[in-house]
Amino acid sequence: MTGVGNRDDLVIDTRSLGRRPGSMLPYRATVSAPSRIGLEMIAIEPGTPIDLDLRLEAVSEGVLVSGTVRSTVTGECIRCLDTFTDELVIEPQELFAYPDSLTVETSEEDEVRRVERDRIDLEPMLIDAAAAVLPFQPVCSPDCLGLCSVCGIRLAIAEPGHSHETIDPRWAALAEKATSEGTDSER
Ligand SMILES: [Zn+2]
Ligand SMILES: [Zn+2]
Repeated sequence: MTGVGNRDDLVIDTRSLGRRPGSMLPYRATVSAPSRIGLEMIAIEPGTPIDLDLRLEAVSEGVLVSGTVRSTVTGECIRCLDTFTDELVIEPQELFAYPDSLTVETSEEDEVRRVERDRIDLEPMLIDAAAAVLPFQPVCSPDCLGLCSVCGIRLAIAEPGHSHETIDPRWAALAEKATSEGTDSER
């Protein structure tokens, strides 16, 4: 696929930052998402630009990463099933610990982000951050009307007051009986 980013684009070399606590390095870049980042129904699609406006700061235990990450997520509305896009803003504040730090020595392998071979990998951080802020049940807009329960048309594009002939009450009663019997027999 063209346009999909390289995983290395989200890896930052920290050697120019040094390890003197207090030293700081701004990091600005726009990279293409190397993978789908988000949840099942809404995510940054591969190849979508991700703007990184970060600050790396050397602290005694490692490198503190903070700042703003902006991108666009594509979602599928759970009410009307339409595809929509939205802006995603993540404001990380994460420590990447040095391999020889007390933090690494006293933590389990998967508990702490690490500086590895003088590099930090932002991708796992973005995956976790996106999962934390994105909705499990995304909607295209808070007042999305969804679909007509009878014919399935999107109510946003249906004629005003869209409705269906109500069924003859006698048939309705029969239909109700049939449904409740059907439900009973399934038990
Ligand atoms: Zn919708
Ligand atoms: Zn309808």
